[in-house]
Amino acid sequence: MRSPAERQTWVRLPVPAHVDLMIKITNTATGKKEDFKPREEGHVYMYVCGPTVYGPMHIGNVRTFVTFDVIYRYFKWKGFDVKYVQNITDVGHLTDVGQDKIINGAKKMGMGVFEFVDLMTKNYFEDLKLLNIEKPDVSPRASEHVPDMIGVIKKLIEKGYAYESNGYVYYDISKFDNYGKLSRQNPEYLEKQRKDSHGDKKHEGDFVLWFPAPDDYPMKWDSPWGKGFPGWHIECSTMSSKYLGFPLDIHGGGKDLIFPHHEDEIAQAEGASGKKFCNHWIHTEFILINNEKMSKSLGNVITARDAAKKYGKNALRYFLISSNYRNEINLTEESIECAKKTVERLIDFVDKMKELKVNSEYNQQIKEGVERAKNKFEESMDDDFNTPMALAAVFDLMNDVNKAIDENKVSKENLTEVYDFMIDIDRVLGVLQHEKEELPRDILELIVKRETLRKLANFDAADEIRKQLTDKGYGVEDGPNGPRWKKVK
Ligand SMILES: [Zn+2]
Repeated sequence: MRSPAERQTWVRLPVPAHVDLMIKITNTATGKKEDFKPREEGHVYMYVCGPTVYGPMHIGNVRTFVTFDVIYRYFKWKGFDVKYVQNITDVGHLTDVGQDKIINGAKKMGMGVFEFVDLMTKNYFEDLKLLNIEKPDVSPRASEHVPDMIGVIKKLIEKGYAYESNGYVYYDISKFDNYGKLSRQNPEYLEKQRKDSHGDKKHEGDFVLWFPAPDDYPMKWDSPWGKGFPGWHIECSTMSSKYLGFPLDIHGGGKDLIFPHHEDEIAQAEGASGKKFCNHWIHTEFILINNEKMSKSLGNVITARDAAKKYGKNALRYFLISSNYRNEINLTEESIECAKKTVERLIDFVDKMKELKVNSEYNQQIKEGVERAKNKFEESMDDDFNTPMALAAVFDLMNDVNKAIDENKVSKENLTEVYDFMIDIDRVLGVLQHEKEELPRDILELIVKRETLRKLANFDAADEIRKQLTDKGYGVEDGPNGPRWKKVK
């Protein structure tokens, strides 16, 4: 195991030796926590189902995308060479009643479909930035990979896994022995869960690989089965193996995608290639809004953009990672307010490490505290990306350091080490980004005036100004290096 001294500052280059520390992942396919064994030492090939670009990203998507962003960042932090692919579904995702989500969306906006998906894709990338989510290494668009999908479908027909019927191509699930393995359900049960029904299929559970397109359909391609468009499931198995090969180390997505989407991906990819599709499946739980599932019918859908604007990206990310990704999380005004206050405390703490003037001796106990926090952080993240435990390690350190500051037992070097640690782990968490606005001129003038009054020992008048500042939404804290301000509402 490497010594903590090996990563003193955040600017260090990835050290491949880190990868000997074993990461454990709960694999949906087995229901067990397993050792992560990459197919190539030091590398991670990871695929996560991306957005269907028919409307704004909602907060349920955000939970999944932030979770995998933290996982992606953590692997890189450990020194792995990660290739992360997340698709963009801009064709073929139908509603439960068989309507195309994108064509519906474009109609509503009065736009052409391709113009519409371009705009929605642009919005999606803007939302990633807004939420401090790192861009995946490759973001393939389904509409640009239709010939690849046709190739996979042809192979499935050749191998007897798929058949054509009236312009449709279906996957025959009775031909694939492992159907239902991921959700650990028997195929008969799953067959009854399938809601679509098109053309003439052999079994109720067979799913569509290729749809025939009506004449007036704006999104269609030539194929051996006539003009049409691919199903949603075929795009993910085609694009993931095109960019990442076999087997994927990690395939992720929201829990709702296990069936049918991910079961179908496995059947397609393994049927066509004869190879294992993926070694570790990770699924994120749902987010509840005031204890209810988010749904259009309840009118409680929150978009990523509104949430980021209202709560701030740090608070939102912190809220999402403060629970284990495998537990439901309940968004309420109280829970997000609490996350906001906590993340502000963390940011204030980091600022203090940089700004505080101290002149005590170097404190060995603080150094040991930093090492303990580093080890605990890494151990927790290695244990199935346990972010709440990793955060607990950070808070333990923060309490110890604050106590030592109060007792005047820290040196500048101690503070620098703590600062470096905080910046280092934020490469994984991404919650310590400054969102402070410029201080308005009238507020600055009040703060200066108050400081002058305090120096003249006119504390009543100074308190009066503090009250005015609070009314205007600004808090002031007096420290050894002068006043610090922050927005309080
Ligand atoms: Zn997918």
